[in-house]
Amino acid sequence: MKSLSALSIRVQLTLLAAIFVLPAAGIIVWSGLRSREEKIQEARVETQKLAAAIAAAYESRLAAAQQLMTALANLPAVKARDPAVQHLLRDMVALNPDYANISIADAAGDVWASANPGRFNIADRRHFQGALATGRLASGESVTGRVTSRPTFFFGYPFRDARGEIAGVISVGFDLRFVRLLESSRLPPRSSFSLTDRNGIVVARAIDAEPYVGRPISPALLAAMVDGPDEATNIGPSLTGEYRVQTYRKLRLAGEQTPFLYVRAGIPYAGVIAGANRALARNVALLLSFFLAALAFASVVGKRTIVDRIARLESASHRLAGGDLGVRVGELVRGGELGRLGRSFDRMAEQLARREKALQESERNLLQAQKMETVGRLAGGIAHDFNNQLTAILSNSEHLARALPGDEGAIAGDIRDAALRSARLVNQLLAFARKGPSRVVAVDLHRTVDEVVGLLSRSIDKRIQLRTRLEAAPALVRGDPDRLHTALVNLALNARDAMPDGGTITFETRRVELDAAACAAVPFDVSPGPYLEVRVVDTGIGLSEEVRAHLFEPFFTTKGVGMGSVLGLAEVYGTVKTHQGAITVESAADRGTSFALLLPAVDGVSPEPRSERTQGRPTPTYPLRVLIADDEQNVRISLGLLLRTGGHEVIECANGAQAVRTHKADARRIDVVILDMMMPDMSGREVLAKIREVTPDVPVIVSSGFSKGPDVEALRGESAVFYLAKPYTTEQLERALAKACNET
Ligand code: ADP
Repeated sequence: MKSLSALSIRVQLTLLAAIFVLPAAGIIVWSGLRSREEKIQEARVETQKLAAAIAAAYESRLAAAQQLMTALANLPAVKARDPAVQHLLRDMVALNPDYANISIADAAGDVWASANPGRFNIADRRHFQGALATGRLASGESVTGRVTSRPTFFFGYPFRDARGEIAGVISVGFDLRFVRLLESSRLPPRSSFSLTDRNGIVVARAIDAEPYVGRPISPALLAAMVDGPDEATNIGPSLTGEYRVQTYRKLRLAGEQTPFLYVRAGIPYAGVIAGANRALARNVALLLSFFLAALAFASVVGKRTIVDRIARLESASHRLAGGDLGVRVGELVRGGELGRLGRSFDRMAEQLARREKALQESERNLLQAQKMETVGRLAGGIAHDFNNQLTAILSNSEHLARALPGDEGAIAGDIRDAALRSARLVNQLLAFARKGPSRVVAVDLHRTVDEVVGLLSRSIDKRIQLRTRLEAAPALVRGDPDRLHTALVNLALNARDAMPDGGTITFETRRVELDAAACAAVPFDVSPGPYLEVRVVDTGIGLSEEVRAHLFEPFFTTKGVGMGSVLGLAEVYGTVKTHQGAITVESAADRGTSFALLLPAVDGVSPEPRSERTQGRPTPTYPLRVLIADDEQNVRISLGLLLRTGGHEVIECANGAQAVRTHKADARRIDVVILDMMMPDMSGREVLAKIREVTPDVPVIVSSGFSKGPDVEALRGESAVFYLAKPYTTEQLERALAKACNET
């Protein structure tokens, strides 16, 4: 079976056709042979019947002749050798054509009465001798009649005189030609027969007698009859040498050992089997043509329905393997199992194409994420260092602005303003790098949208309509309300810029469920679950592929210098990352753009009131004894200056270990600690832990350029710990101090 399946389909089909034809071929050949056997059997029976018929004809004639001879033998005229008997014999021969002659000889063999004229001696004849010897009917041999010159077979019968002594022999010669009668009338078709005497001489033959009559048959043929049973049938060479189905039968007189005649009847073997052979040949020819037709059918139909269709599938597989994912065969290979295979192939190709697309997409996403990560790290690093410098510039310029009179004071104020603007930029960069200050509270995004819409409606071009479709319920997320507010404002301002001739900005919210596939499809680290989707949809100019590729990169803009926010989308990007969310964009040139923020949804928490913005300035507590721990000298100096200007007493420490030591030495007198989170020797956390060992309740203001690092996050929940983002103004510093001292 294994080697069968290794063959080509065409060969298999041919084999199948052959297998189907084989039994039919077997049946045809078998029945052909059987019918040949039947014909041969029929011929055997035929020859047996014929031999029996001829034997019967002979025997009946012989019986009649015997009857005649017995009657003659009892005639007183015969016993008396009356010559008048001659007339009687002549009349008898004339009446019966079977008799060639009837004669009566005396005991010496001299014929004294004969139907045919002539006087002769028959003492040398076998039938004469036999009759004399046995006193009964005796057979003779075939001879050419001495008077008639016709082939004649003689029988002798003795007659007795008045004393009962054998006085002579009555001879009856049969004209062997009588057998010709059978030739035309009673002979079955094709059959013939011959008579052979005991010496093997052919004495009569039904057909074509001339060349054979009077000649001996082959010794083998004679021996087979002499030695064989009284009757036998076989297939073998006849006296003409031709193969025949033939039956011989021995004719013998009662009391005689040796047959006096052999009857042989035969039918040519070739003729017997010719009909069966013809039928067999016709059936084989029919079968062969059926087989050839089946082969042609298998070849043509098999080629069209199987081979060609498989070839199409094969070529499609090659193309698919070669990377042509668009190849489909469903239309080319229809119907049946192959059709189903074709459809499966198409489904597989579609699946592959989808996977390939998804793979490309995720590769693109990965690259995009890596790129943004790198840019974010770079931006974050620069911003952090820059922040420290800005803190110093800001504090010092504020101090100078206050201390210096006139123009110089004004210049210091300008420096302060420039530092503040830079601080804002740095904050944006940090937001993009996900390192800016950040709060985490429950936020109702519908309220945020309302605020943004309110803000825009007062400032935006009147040709732009603002719409909302707020379907999320509830619209709660956890995060920084300010940063989310800023993100929506940034998106809205971009939408505005994309519609210089007016249009519509729609804010939409709804809750969506992201599954694993949806999460994998966005270049953000999001996990499956419920999300709040906030869409900002415009009807503006849309995004080109080029713009799309760089959309979230910091400082990427298509707007003129000073026109855009520069870090707008980069900041939005950082915000969604900070919130474990994602941002997606859909756009078509001239058909607008739709940005969707996806933020993990939360249920069942009430949003924090946005009280902080309206909070009044806290009352500072003077004078405070403040311990500063910061490895950055600029920061220490500027911060010290600010605090001292504010009337506070300052103890400066350049690293963590020094801060711990100093605090321990003078713990009772230290009102508040301002702690940098990132110092080379000890982290802010470690320093805090040491301080807490001595005074568990001293307020500690953690000051950092980052809002997110693990250290800051870990400190968020701790009591008496406050957060002050770098860089800060005097006002922010004083508010932090006040809060720290009032709340503890
Ligand atoms: P900026 O606003 O300073 O250009 P952004 O980061 O906010 O910086 O945007 C980057 C660029 O993305 C824009 O310059 C603009 O080409 C494109 N862009 C952003 N939002 C849209 C929008 N809604 N429609 C068309 N283009 C937009």
